[in-house]
Amino acid sequence: ASLVDESLPQAAAAVRPLAAVTGAELQAPLIQGGHVRYANLDYGASAPALSIVSAYLNEVLPYYASVHRGAGYASQISTSVYENSRNIVRDFVGGRPDDSVIFTRNTTDSLNLLAGCLPRVAGEFTGEVLYLDIEHHANLLPWQGVPHRSVVAAPTLAETLDKLRGELAQGGVSLLAVTGASNVTGEILPIARLASLAHEHGARIVVDAAQLAPHRRINIAEADVDYVVFSGHKLYAPFGAGVVVGRPDWLDAGTPHLAGGGAVREARLDSVSWAAGPARHEGGSPNVLGAATLARATQVLAGLDQDAWHAHETAIRSYLVKGLEAIDGVTVHKIFNDSLDTIGVVNFSVEGFDAGLVAAYLAAEHGVGLRDGRFCAHPLLKRLGLPSGSLRASFGVGSRLEDATRLLAGIEELKRNGL
Ligand code: PLP
Repeated sequence: ASLVDESLPQAAAAVRPLAAVTGAELQAPLIQGGHVRYANLDYGASAPALSIVSAYLNEVLPYYASVHRGAGYASQISTSVYENSRNIVRDFVGGRPDDSVIFTRNTTDSLNLLAGCLPRVAGEFTGEVLYLDIEHHANLLPWQGVPHRSVVAAPTLAETLDKLRGELAQGGVSLLAVTGASNVTGEILPIARLASLAHEHGARIVVDAAQLAPHRRINIAEADVDYVVFSGHKLYAPFGAGVVVGRPDWLDAGTPHLAGGGAVREARLDSVSWAAGPARHEGGSPNVLGAATLARATQVLAGLDQDAWHAHETAIRSYLVKGLEAIDGVTVHKIFNDSLDTIGVVNFSVEGFDAGLVAAYLAAEHGVGLRDGRFCAHPLLKRLGLPSGSLRASFGVGSRLEDATRLLAGIEELKRNGL
């Protein structure tokens, strides 16, 4: 059984348009079997493993052996599971046939890997990385060690695209690094438009899909995105595995991310010729189970009825936003004034209450788990006027409307009675 028993059938049962949710359903008993169901509104940090994924983990576990290193039966099976996971993940993101799929520890690791693969001539970088100020630190800090430029996002998306265009037009940008969806507010960025903007000016694009991939199908070939990165633990798989998928030329020429066994063609005592392909960056014994479960999770998501999936998350999100906005002193935060499509993430503050204390109160008194703080996006939080942080409720396929109801009831009680 998975750690949290939130399976797809339950999610499917919760899929219904908001208009069809009756008052009776909203007031459904929250206490089941003598236990209060934990209202997990922190999917954006890590999503609970799907039961299908945990069953697969148990299936693969008995055949668990070091890959690429043995002729034994278990090693062959593990190698084939591992290598096949690349194909599954490439398909999931709509990768081109020759795109590399490199397994890493997480999104952060993937972006650091890519930073080591930026093109250089005679050791000198040939261009800069351009990014917005709305990014997660994983998509900010790796670029601070290489030539870079940043742009402060404007109040509207159209103005922001203009600002990026202006910056790109100055020339010298080799890579535009952008998030697919904000981990702070859930707003989705137009990755195909950003890709064409980058390409018009001779730059490539990497999309940080840590938040987007668990909520929306991505097709990097169609969107003409050069690289995409994401993590297994936000995608209903266990911790410890992430991926970078994209054009092989930079990756095959870049600095090996983990120097060591498996990453070399030929090692000599004081020199080496590195391998090309994913092996170049995957030195040491890889995380076979992490890659396999990440791949299995992508298959489950790919098999979902996309419309039902979105309707489910949209229903909960609009219900929650409407409920929060109806409470005096509660503000829901956005980056852009445009009404962009959003994933299941809602960011808000309660006037007069410290975000950390509200989160602790909701956990202790109402069994609601959400995130408070600055969401590893310090520049954005500062610009939004939230230097000491805010609250984030995030959800996904296992969430129910009653989770949002519990949160709303908790905030209402807080407003009535104080802490
Ligand atoms: N990018 C975004 C948009 C995220 O939300 C996160 C995690 O919260 C990351 C990157 C980093 O992911 P990880 O901690 O798995 O490396």
